[in-house]
Amino acid sequence: MDLDLLKATLADIGEPSYRAGQVWEWLARGAASYVEMTNLPSGLRAQLEERVALSTLTLEREALAHDGTVKALLRTGDGHPVEAVLMRYRDGRRSLCLSTQSGCPLTCSFCATGRMRFARNLTRDEIVDQALHFRRRWAIDHAVFMGMGEPMMNLDAVLAACELLPALGITNRRTAISTVGWIPGIERLTASGVPVRLALSLHAAEDSLRSQLMAVNDRYPLADVLEACRAHYAATRRTVFIEYVMLAGVNDRHEQALALARVLSPREAFKVNLIPYNPTDSLYVGSGREAIGSFRAALESRGVRVTVRLTRGRDIAAACGQLAAAG
Ligand code: SAH
Repeated sequence: MDLDLLKATLADIGEPSYRAGQVWEWLARGAASYVEMTNLPSGLRAQLEERVALSTLTLEREALAHDGTVKALLRTGDGHPVEAVLMRYRDGRRSLCLSTQSGCPLTCSFCATGRMRFARNLTRDEIVDQALHFRRRWAIDHAVFMGMGEPMMNLDAVLAACELLPALGITNRRTAISTVGWIPGIERLTASGVPVRLALSLHAAEDSLRSQLMAVNDRYPLADVLEACRAHYAATRRTVFIEYVMLAGVNDRHEQALALARVLSPREAFKVNLIPYNPTDSLYVGSGREAIGSFRAALESRGVRVTVRLTRGRDIAAACGQLAAAG
């Protein structure tokens, strides 16, 4: 919901400002209409119904994967596509994957979002409305800014959204922001003191390969990005998650695991999350299970903490790197 419009409208009608808080509380708890907001006078509800849309986004399509993952294709008021994903896990955890931009201005060669047209940054309310879309049907407890876009290029809106998400049940400690390594954003996040998790999309432990995969590495080279992550750890004592998408014959060799282990010091500052590659229409082929297993073992033998990301929603193109608002 456009919360500024809500406040302005209430002022215009001559209603006390606490009404905005009441509406927000209903929304955050999953209300799907003004009718449900029973502590508001019915005349007011009718006026708001006419003047303030419940969401800044409209739902265009929704898809349900075999594993229970739900992907929503939403549209901004000015017509730009936004995708958001809800992942439901067996242990009961429900995690949202939120977009921060429509499209992405960066051009990582393995990611489908980088190949669609970049439109613009999303506003705080457009980010929160993705979460509210799912909140109307499910309780949610985690969120990751890992959908379309680069969160650190839109950090003000992302942090403003982080102030609102706890009301929906998503604390900052259960929220993660993933970045390509946009250093000014990492530094601002560290300085902000907001206790969200930092995740870095690394994908290669040496500059030439990383630049080939992610052109942004030319602007913010590896050593500087890792230094910003170390400073983040030093200031927050929170481990930085390293995302590493496994590409067969590209970045999955034994020496590359050892090189990765070398750059990740001190050990306690980092934890690696190996990501099985999800098909997009790029030339890459994902590493097989065995290659991922060996890579993992090589890292572990050097004392690096490692997990392998569960792939979710691949059959509906909702998995990492597949959001492109096409399918
Ligand atoms: N722009 C931010 C936020 C997006 S997070 C970032 O890049 O960190 C999306 C994650 O999925 C990133 O780690 C990205 O590198 C990874 N990814 C992109 N394409 C992928 C693919 N085809 N398969 C698996 N992971 C992919």
